[in-house]
Amino acid sequence: MTDNTGINRRRLMAGAGLAAIATPFVTGAASAQAQSTEGDSMKMADAPASDSFDLGEFKLLVVEDGTRLMENPGETFGTGQDPETVAALLEENFLPPDKLINGFAPVLVDTGNETVLFDTGMGPAGRSWGAGRLREGLIANGYQPEDIDIVVITHMHGDHINGLMEEDGPAFPNARYVFGEKEYAFWSDDARMGTPAEGGHQSVKKLVTPLVDQATFIGGGDEVVPGITAMEAFGHTPGHLIFMLNSGDERLLLTADTANQYVLSLQRPDWHVRFDMDKEMAAATRRQVFDMVAAERIPFLGYHMPFPAVGYVEKVGDGYKFMPKTYQFKV
Ligand SMILES: [Zn+2]
Repeated sequence: MTDNTGINRRRLMAGAGLAAIATPFVTGAASAQAQSTEGDSMKMADAPASDSFDLGEFKLLVVEDGTRLMENPGETFGTGQDPETVAALLEENFLPPDKLINGFAPVLVDTGNETVLFDTGMGPAGRSWGAGRLREGLIANGYQPEDIDIVVITHMHGDHINGLMEEDGPAFPNARYVFGEKEYAFWSDDARMGTPAEGGHQSVKKLVTPLVDQATFIGGGDEVVPGITAMEAFGHTPGHLIFMLNSGDERLLLTADTANQYVLSLQRPDWHVRFDMDKEMAAATRRQVFDMVAAERIPFLGYHMPFPAVGYVEKVGDGYKFMPKTYQFKV
């Protein structure tokens, strides 16, 4: 499911020594791989997929925290559509009609002054099915969990917040946190008890509430650090935030979960998505955000886009066609 390029493998091998030193923070399997690299350095290619590139003065490192296989895509994307319509669009795009793979792509932005991590993956909750590999991927690229200065949460669904905590406490012990004010207010409110959001409420109480003393609460227009600005993109969740990165002459938009599948959500932005809590608002936001991304030809990173989750969109018909990045950031 992962597809390391030759460049990734070289980076991962370069990180092998660091991973071996950092054994307490990696899984048993990963540390065994790190040790085995003395004999066979190619084994380290089994670290999670990662991709790094420069954006102006910023260095971005995207880590594949994990992937999830989903059956019957039409039950999640295009709910309310005829399932055969959904299947036909997948086939038209050279994808299987009855299954899809969705990944999680947290990103570390090293501004030169601070390391800013956006979202935390599945954490311990994902390890039984092969996800929760963010910290392993950071370590393989030379960043220890203690090195993370700021953790930003785009919204408080499990695949974004579960990695905030390890069994023994905060996963990024020296970090301060940036949370959306509206998002936290929604999930932490006891009024969620007895509603479909009860599970999310309980997760937020367990994983996010213990960190609020180290947190700053922000809204649209607020700056995380110079060059990183929050924008409101409500609908997927009540306080979902996206972030514009600006460095030098370059820009990139972290669109988080504004669109959750590169074909079904982008080519048919108005289709309803099971995970969107306000489906109409999410669709309107999707149009607004991707109209801008298309018109201004801005690269974007979407948390659930195909790894390394960075690309562009072209307006085609009534929707958008995803074009993954290739060598744009290397030349
Ligand atoms: Zn998500």
